[in-house]
Amino acid sequence: MSAAKKIIISLTCPNCGGQVEAEEGENLVLCKYCDSAFSLTTDEGIGKIMYRLDVTREKAESRFAGWLKDGPKAKDLAEKAEISEAYPIYLPFWRLVGRGKACVCGVEVKKGDKDEPDRRIPHESLVNREYIYSDIACDPGDLGITAIRVPDHAAAVQFNDDAIVTFGVTESRDDAYAAGAEEIKRQALADGKRSMDEICFSKAFFFEKAFSLVYYPFWIIRYTYEDRAYFAVLDGITAEIISGRAPGNAGSQSTAAAVGGTLAGVVLAAFIFFGFALGALEAIALLFAFGVIIAAGIIIFSYNRFRYGDEILEGALKGKGLKRGKKQRSIETNYENTYDMFN
Ligand SMILES: [Zn+2]
Repeated sequence: MSAAKKIIISLTCPNCGGQVEAEEGENLVLCKYCDSAFSLTTDEGIGKIMYRLDVTREKAESRFAGWLKDGPKAKDLAEKAEISEAYPIYLPFWRLVGRGKACVCGVEVKKGDKDEPDRRIPHESLVNREYIYSDIACDPGDLGITAIRVPDHAAAVQFNDDAIVTFGVTESRDDAYAAGAEEIKRQALADGKRSMDEICFSKAFFFEKAFSLVYYPFWIIRYTYEDRAYFAVLDGITAEIISGRAPGNAGSQSTAAAVGGTLAGVVLAAFIFFGFALGALEAIALLFAFGVIIAAGIIIFSYNRFRYGDEILEGALKGKGLKRGKKQRSIETNYENTYDMFN
């Protein structure tokens, strides 16, 4: 059993200006300095939270410079890439924190062998966990961002939209809530099923703890390379590369094509030579056809392996390219608690 990570928000008391802390989902906050009570939620009835941008321009640009050199990108990318613009931006996310409870009954089947029959082990698991669901609340265009994972050291502050650049919220609050509750129930069931091969009964419940609109900071760096436009998105708190587009290593593609072509040629020549050595016309024709098939196979292999090599896609970007990095999952477990009645 591990303790849940509490999501704490620092607030400025509107009455005395004192710094107070509140847990996400609390409706009323009591100021410890002046005893006045104030609300975290806005007029629309939803808590808006904003995380402080920690990464400076210098740090963002130096991380970006490192990323240009990393992986199978164009070899001269770091020298030739020119930053056209770099700016911080806040993107809105719906965040639903809640308890997922599930009861799953089923059977785990351990395969036996010829001397031993299959063993059927009954399980009944009761899941009682806290989950954090997040989903982007705006249309992020081509940025390739879908969800967030807020680092432990992130500082949450009261939302102030005068101070920041952000995208408008387009996803409906009710849709986001319903999707989040479904996803939390689905995850609780999946956690309950674990080792079961057959499910006899399952039921999941969701209990809300907090539902907020979270503004999370990013650095967007747009750059050009050989007159083409590319970009990278960095986490504004950890400076990690979240997503990005970069030109691939064209050199390795031509090398591969050359290797493939040479190999095909050598194989063909070898077959023809042995065909002549054997002397039989049918043998020559047969071996020639065989050689052609092998050569075609090599060319198809090279094509499939390198057709996407001209562009590198990092993060949750859609489209054609060599995909790297990992997409942020929309759900994380904040608090674990599972019992299995048969273990
Ligand atoms: Zn106060």
